[in-house]
Amino acid sequence: MLTGHHLIAGREAAADHAPFQAMNPTTNQKLEPFFGEATADLADEALQAADGAFDSLRMASAETRAALLDHLADEIMALGDALLERAHQETALPMARLTGERGRAIGQCKMFAALIREGSWAQMSIDLPLPDRVPAPKPDVRRVLLPIGPVVVFGASNFPFAIGVVGTDTVSALASGCPVVVKAHQAHPGTCEMLSRAVFNALRKAGLPDGCFSMLHGRCHDIGTELVKHPLTQAVAFTGSLKGGRAMMDVAAARPHPIPFYGEMGSINPVFLLPGALKERAAKIAEGYIGAVTMGVGQFCTNPAVVLGIKGADLNTFIHSAGEGAQKVAPQTMLHRGICETFEAGTAVWSTIEGLKLAGQSAAEPNNEASQAACRIFTTTLDVLESNEELQREVFGPCSIVAAADSLEEMLTFARGLEGQLTAAIHGTTEDLREYAALVRVLERKAGRIIFNGFGTGIEPCASMHHGGPYPAASHSFFTSIGTGSIYRFVRPVCYQGFPDDCLPAPLQNANNAGAMRLVDSTLTRAAV
Ligand code: NAP
Repeated sequence: MLTGHHLIAGREAAADHAPFQAMNPTTNQKLEPFFGEATADLADEALQAADGAFDSLRMASAETRAALLDHLADEIMALGDALLERAHQETALPMARLTGERGRAIGQCKMFAALIREGSWAQMSIDLPLPDRVPAPKPDVRRVLLPIGPVVVFGASNFPFAIGVVGTDTVSALASGCPVVVKAHQAHPGTCEMLSRAVFNALRKAGLPDGCFSMLHGRCHDIGTELVKHPLTQAVAFTGSLKGGRAMMDVAAARPHPIPFYGEMGSINPVFLLPGALKERAAKIAEGYIGAVTMGVGQFCTNPAVVLGIKGADLNTFIHSAGEGAQKVAPQTMLHRGICETFEAGTAVWSTIEGLKLAGQSAAEPNNEASQAACRIFTTTLDVLESNEELQREVFGPCSIVAAADSLEEMLTFARGLEGQLTAAIHGTTEDLREYAALVRVLERKAGRIIFNGFGTGIEPCASMHHGGPYPAASHSFFTSIGTGSIYRFVRPVCYQGFPDDCLPAPLQNANNAGAMRLVDSTLTRAAV
């Protein structure tokens, strides 16, 4: 039973200010109950509670925090089909996709539980003292990563489970020992409420204070700004549009005490088709491309929005196959009406650009009343793409542009001019990859992840994943928002010099009870000191 309340440190706060309802994008019907706009007072209450709970969470054993995440996985599952049904009503994402995404969210909880149980993630480093060193003795110096404090999380509309209330941001912050305050996404507030209740159940089972978590609703941007500006907020994790991300990034930077802002934003994810691959399998690559463009109605930040190849018969085969593939794609309902309208407006602007042609689109007409989007594949020349900036900006949805270059040198020049990207993909033979190594060298400076013979859609949450990239793909190119590396956004190194062993944090003590890997006098070891 949903209440529509803000959930602040376990307290139900009536959301009676500026009420709003979620919309079912398929039926255009409003969904019960009413939610409301959180106020600055509630933001303050949530952050005071988070700050108050910080010591309990950070001083809890790794086992207690790992148990919290295991309980959270169970509690998400315990929400059963009701969670999937509410998310389906609010987002129109198909049940199969939501079931898969729930699996990913649960997998992330377990992945971080395993990470902190093992313990090496905190990068302990120990330099033993040399009291007899001349001319000066060397002190005992030890360093470990410690949590920074309350973290504010903004999730995106397109991943209500895996990048939302219980997504990587929340889970990695809790794993590190940081309390979390979530700004619920206004497009799926009921889903946010259900998942928040799961977090409180998990906290209670783990014996941790309710203050470790709060969730506030809001659909005007004031509450997000209040949370980012609040003096007790120590970091922000944001996933969403470049517009929203940049606005929050500027608020974080303009505070009297600026804080780290980790924004994962949009990207056009260029795909480069090399001659050998086009000759060998143009139609097959086109099939995979249409799948990647239309998966999830194109609502992925890793959508391949621009494809480049060298002019010729093989590229024409690719364009023709992609156009045909687009025709077969049935229009589907987008996450919400606003996203659908932005998609329509974006592709309408493209359609007015001279030199840009439609290669193919869904044969069936989209139903505007049901916020449906048709797949649209455009084709042009590289000089038209380069001379129209709007073609190089993300239009969120199932559309993409194939651009024909005169030469590899022209493709390289385009690649050199790219802004930061989450992903870039190359399709080629192994010989192509060796011959066009210069392209890889350019893309290494542009993208967080480079994919060979695949597309960026479908992110594997694992230790080696990097989901980020140079601005504007992300606000800080060093950090990832997916995979175990995402925990490093919420910690900072603290160095202890000359401390007695029993007064050090447990991971730095001589005994190394957890058996974690540590750097002792510059050698990695699991041994005790
Ligand atoms: P969004 O409109 O930017 O919303 C994300 C969150 O930020 C929401 O909670 C939103 O609140 C808030 N927000 C947006 N603008 C704000 C502002 N000016 N001030 C304060 N808060 C603001 O993004 P979305 O529609 O949910 O998701 C689609 C976008 O996310 C696409 O551009 C997609 O590429 C990107 N995305 C990126 C990744 C990634 O990992 N890089 C992953 C998924 C999606 P309201 O709902 O109240 O507006």
